[in-house]
Amino acid sequence: MWAPPRCFEEFRTRAATDIDGVCREVAESIEQALGTEISLPEDLRIVLSPEPIYIPPRALVRGGYDPVSRTIILSNGLWCRKTLVHEMLHAVSYFTRVPQLLEVFRRETDFVEGLTEFLTGYVLYSAYRECYQRWLSREYIVCSISYERFVRLFGALAHVYVSIRDLVRLYIYDPGRDWFREYEEFLRRYGLEDFLLNKPREMRRVPSSMLLEDIASKALRQRFGEERVSEFIELLYEAPLDVVLDYSTMLR
Ligand SMILES: [Zn+2]
Repeated sequence: MWAPPRCFEEFRTRAATDIDGVCREVAESIEQALGTEISLPEDLRIVLSPEPIYIPPRALVRGGYDPVSRTIILSNGLWCRKTLVHEMLHAVSYFTRVPQLLEVFRRETDFVEGLTEFLTGYVLYSAYRECYQRWLSREYIVCSISYERFVRLFGALAHVYVSIRDLVRLYIYDPGRDWFREYEEFLRRYGLEDFLLNKPREMRRVPSSMLLEDIASKALRQRFGEERVSEFIELLYEAPLDVVLDYSTMLR
């Protein structure tokens, strides 16, 4: 296994003595990168697990967020800044704040985790460029990208069709807005069929991420033609990770 980068030790030492300060800093970076306010749960707790966390059968995990107890848990020795960004994003997303969407989260894990990690990458890209490089290079497991297959889907979409801004609106909880209306508006704007709430009967068992790939291809074909669909598919399946996740060339 590769040795940890120097920043890993620095960050861990700082987090061990001032976790609140580190969280405040990460929260600010999220707001700046995503260009929106976030509202963390008032009683959010951060727990540093003294032992690495093992959840059978998934093996070791880097961290997690429990929306019921509003607790972020970080797995000793296995987490770093990217984990904290990811878990804080969960805590400020519609998918943990709106009860009906919590149900969607449980059912469509790939979609929600993929979008969470995609936005994590954007925060790293905007505020912590070295973490972003390590996230892409996968040299050190703690810093590496998770849910890669699903993150690629959002990267490909944001290159050819859907703006990051619209993905942010669909994700970051805003108590003043109704998510269900946002979602309808999103579908209408991009000419997409519902891939998340009421999937067509014969598609119920198809994960939303897969369905979105199909539905987006259809919309791209109708609006722009076959060439744009090929571009999308190539980004999704063939492009190197640092191309499909180059945020500087995505639609913002
Ligand atoms: Zn997650």
